[in-house]
Amino acid sequence: MPSMAIVSRLRRGDLFFSRLRRQLAVAVAACPFTSSAAHDAGTGVSGPHLPVLIVGAGPVGLVLSMLLTKFGIKCAVLEKSLSFSRHPQAHFINNRSMEIFRKLDGLAEEIESSQPPVDLWRKFIYCTSLSGSILGSVDHMQPEDFEKVNSPVCVAHLSQYKLVNLLLKKLEKLGMHVYRHDPSDDWEPDSPLEKRILMGHECTSIQPTNEGVIVTARVHNGTTLEERRLHCSILIASDGARSTIRRLVGVEMKGERGLQELISVHFMSMDLGNFLLKNRPGMLFFVFNQDAIGVLVAHHLEQGEFVLQIPYYPPQQNYQDFSPQACEKIISKLVGWALQDVQVLDIKPWVMHAEVAEKYLTCNNRVILVGDAAHRFPPAGGFGMNTGIQDVHNIAWKIFYFLKEVASSSVLQTYESERRPIAISNTNLSVENFKAAMSVPSALGLDPTVANSVHRAINTGLGSIIPKNMQKAVLEGIFSVGRAQLSDYVLNEKNPVGVMRLEKLKRIFAEGKSLQLQFPAHDLGFCYKEGALVADTSENTQYCNRAGSGRVSREYIPTGRPGSRLPHMHVKPFTAASTEETLSTLDLVSGDKPEFLLIIAPLKASYHIARVILTKAEELRVLLKVCVVWPHCSCQSRSTGSRAELEPWKNYIDVEECKKDRSWWDMCCLTNKGVLLVRPDEHIAWRTESDRVADAVSEAEKVLSRVLGL
Ligand SMILES: Cc1cc2nc3c(=O)[nH]c(=O)nc-3n(C[C@H](O)[C@H](O)[C@H](O)COP(=O)(O)OP(=O)(O)OC[C@H]3O[C@@H](n4cnc5c(N)ncnc54)[C@H](O)[C@@H]3O)c2cc1C
Repeated sequence: MPSMAIVSRLRRGDLFFSRLRRQLAVAVAACPFTSSAAHDAGTGVSGPHLPVLIVGAGPVGLVLSMLLTKFGIKCAVLEKSLSFSRHPQAHFINNRSMEIFRKLDGLAEEIESSQPPVDLWRKFIYCTSLSGSILGSVDHMQPEDFEKVNSPVCVAHLSQYKLVNLLLKKLEKLGMHVYRHDPSDDWEPDSPLEKRILMGHECTSIQPTNEGVIVTARVHNGTTLEERRLHCSILIASDGARSTIRRLVGVEMKGERGLQELISVHFMSMDLGNFLLKNRPGMLFFVFNQDAIGVLVAHHLEQGEFVLQIPYYPPQQNYQDFSPQACEKIISKLVGWALQDVQVLDIKPWVMHAEVAEKYLTCNNRVILVGDAAHRFPPAGGFGMNTGIQDVHNIAWKIFYFLKEVASSSVLQTYESERRPIAISNTNLSVENFKAAMSVPSALGLDPTVANSVHRAINTGLGSIIPKNMQKAVLEGIFSVGRAQLSDYVLNEKNPVGVMRLEKLKRIFAEGKSLQLQFPAHDLGFCYKEGALVADTSENTQYCNRAGSGRVSREYIPTGRPGSRLPHMHVKPFTAASTEETLSTLDLVSGDKPEFLLIIAPLKASYHIARVILTKAEELRVLLKVCVVWPHCSCQSRSTGSRAELEPWKNYIDVEECKKDRSWWDMCCLTNKGVLLVRPDEHIAWRTESDRVADAVSEAEKVLSRVLGL
């Protein structure tokens, strides 16, 4: 039996396993999909038991597969489609995701070299047509973004499908292959599943067992259909906004549904690309004119690749109304002339929601929701994929320690207590940013909330009893009256209404009240308040998480508070060959193994704590490295470093601060007696000052037990 190893482990009878067995029995009894026979022979399970099965090969599922593979955890990915989508949804990669990508074998560097130059996408442009008057333009990059003060890496702009392609190449190098089921290729029931991305495999049902979950996948190969059953310890639902797994386990979404419906048109036009390159390069173009309204996303101006988002009002408007020819016409109206080389590649309707799953883990923590399966936001601010990437960065090391039987299953539960509040906060921020985007058409006399209310009234009120084609005519009539507000006659320096509206627009742009792109306080400053950490009880909360406090300034304030991301600062390793060689403090945390990092200053009391924690970590089988931060210009100590204090341990590094004007400890709101324990996901688990620790042994035990949920 594939799962015998786990069964025998469970029989070993130590305290941990008997507790786990009890938990599983309770959960299996409570779970709606329980089958008593599921773990026995006759379940038709093919292939050996997998530690982790990921459903959905979007960016989030793929990043998780890469993290787990690097940590040595066997996993496979099921993807229902036969090929990867080329429809470019996400394109803005925020700072934190780029920091995570820096650790994925140089993925961030490849994104930087594949993306268009930043001067081509740093602006949002508001205009009456792509060749007509510019109503305003907003630059979203600030000098500090390039100076890399807060992060060793910048934000990026790359189409989601190109990112997926880069990820697939990285996965290939780690031995993870894309497998397309071929009817001539007989499936051997015992053939290894791990390190495969199984295309054409649609998860249709799941069945929790005592050892994990049995997943049934419908296998498509283009012509035939068959069923396959796979068994795993942990099932990850990264199957997107309409998650099948979320539905199967009965998890509800909470929030606002159906904020707006849109048609997304992916098209190529070198003529448009060249025109915008020469005249008005930007990332987003908000076009408002009497004939059409739309938002154009320039995915790559130099390659002439665009996505147009058009508001869409079903059922009065049909998806079929948006044929490639109809879309070309709308594009011409937005451009201001008829492009000769438009090539429409794909047209997709989509609905904007602002919702977060009420639970992230079910079936005794065996089924875990990540990415869009767990939350779906308006794309304003580009938080969707980024939040998903950060979800899996949070869960990967927890899965490792749980499967290695170092941590209890409650460590998995901390994924929900840490990430769900962040998703709620990012939902609120995205909604607010979406409303800010609406302030521009409102100022132009084109209130989108009116259009939505009229549409709702037609669908639900008295309007619903009039015939469909009449409803369509009414809606069209109202829209064209609205769009008349955008005529040259109204939007004109000589028309007092036009002057007033244009003035209002100017104020919105100058005061930063239109759609924003960067939110460093949320992007880098998000902070877990409870979870796999020892929360700081100090009164000083001024540096804590500003995520959740509504629309905030751009400002990110570094802090060493537990739950925060480790601040970035350049340091120089004692072993550096040249004075130029520096590291970010974030680089001190390994990207290849789930290793904790203890940061101390070179003080007797701090070394004592380090030795005690190293011993405790070894006893618990927790990977741990120590970093000793020396003050700027500690040349006299360079030859010996911390050897005398930390021998026989080898897993430590001595670094010195690069600048004398700002100390590391100051940045972390600590004195140099500070001690910081950093998790493998670069979030701070615990901090203290060494002279405050009375009994290092019991403190070490308390901290590690807390973090691992023991
Ligand atoms: C217009 C637009 C612009 C956006 N811009 C940004 C942006 O700039 N930045 C940003 O961060 N986010 C952005 N987003 C959001 C972003 O696209 C999503 O958050 C992201 O795709 C989520 O990734 P995922 O891997 O969780 O899910 P998905 O990308 O949806 O992947 C899910 C995968 O699961 C597969 N699947 C589904 N069901 C099953 C099943 N039953 N069995 C097997 N496989 C299954 C699907 O085929 C798919 O491949 C944008 C979204 C839109 C619509």
